[in-house]
Amino acid sequence: MPQHHRYSRQALVPVIGEAGQARLAAAHVVVVGVGALGCQSADLLARAGVGSLTLIDRDVVELSNLQRQTLFDERDAAGGHSKACAAQSRLNAVNSAIQVHAITADLRARNALQILTQALGGRGEIDAAGAIIIDGTDNFHTRYLLNDCAVKLGVPYVYGGVIGVRGMCAIFAPGAGGPCLRCIFPDPPPPGTSPTCDTAGVLGPAVAMVGAHQASMAMRCIVDGPAASGHGLIDFDIWSGQQRRLLMHKAAGCVCCVGGRLEFLDDAHDEEATQYCGSDAVQVWPARSSEGVRLADLAGRLARVGHVVQNAAFLRVSIDEPRSKEGGIELTVFADGRAIVRGAGGPEAARGVYAKYVGN
Ligand SMILES: [Zn+2]
Repeated sequence: MPQHHRYSRQALVPVIGEAGQARLAAAHVVVVGVGALGCQSADLLARAGVGSLTLIDRDVVELSNLQRQTLFDERDAAGGHSKACAAQSRLNAVNSAIQVHAITADLRARNALQILTQALGGRGEIDAAGAIIIDGTDNFHTRYLLNDCAVKLGVPYVYGGVIGVRGMCAIFAPGAGGPCLRCIFPDPPPPGTSPTCDTAGVLGPAVAMVGAHQASMAMRCIVDGPAASGHGLIDFDIWSGQQRRLLMHKAAGCVCCVGGRLEFLDDAHDEEATQYCGSDAVQVWPARSSEGVRLADLAGRLARVGHVVQNAAFLRVSIDEPRSKEGGIELTVFADGRAIVRGAGGPEAARGVYAKYVGN
């Protein structure tokens, strides 16, 4: 299929043109979090012909995702597929002329820089032209971690957030003289003080609007360069139709991009067990850094305690546990050693389940 024809309507638009289309083809965008926002921006960028896309997500597809996570369908939810892999296979079918990479991982202080560096260019040599990180996450801690990585790597970072009917988005390009996330929002809100999609809900159209803005900001950054890509923060209410654009400036006292302190990347207290907001699921990391888990070996051991389902990204076992409130525990172990424990009743108990069945 002649690829030129594929993008003809887009290249006709004066802000893109043939030169812009060539820049898109040479670009590499990393989408962190392939949930509601990540699905939107990754889909638009794949169709627009961004030459290389890396999709990073820690989670698996569930039925309640389908209302707004547009790269997935009921088969992905029934099969419990990893979001990164399900999105990759969907985007490969959409555009076979680009490279789509999938990484099933949870970005933490301990691994974020290594994963992003490898995703963007291999052995520490990132071609900053055309490299962009898009935030599709749903939590403040990962956002501030991504901001630290973006400052360290000199790569633009496209922030997005959505809750209920409201959305917000901005591109931060501190490497090109612009502000970073912490210039505008110096610290994340304390845990439990902000509404989340689990507690306040979210409208699909609000998600689509933020995702569209994020994709557009990334495209403009690739085509016109980070310095020209605008430093405004867009804030809207999709129900009332109100929208504001706030100018952003580098903060002279910013601890991160001016002071050089990468507090979230240098976090020595990287938690080992975190309860997912609004659910009975707890994420557990191995107590010590590990090289990951040999899923096939573990599946063999766990077959004695329950029914095991395994694929390349993770294994899942349902364990009868009379002491559990739900009458059973579901343990999902990923190749990087991380696990999601459901039904254990809290972080401490989940750690215990991990120690008992996975070890470490
Ligand atoms: Zn800053």
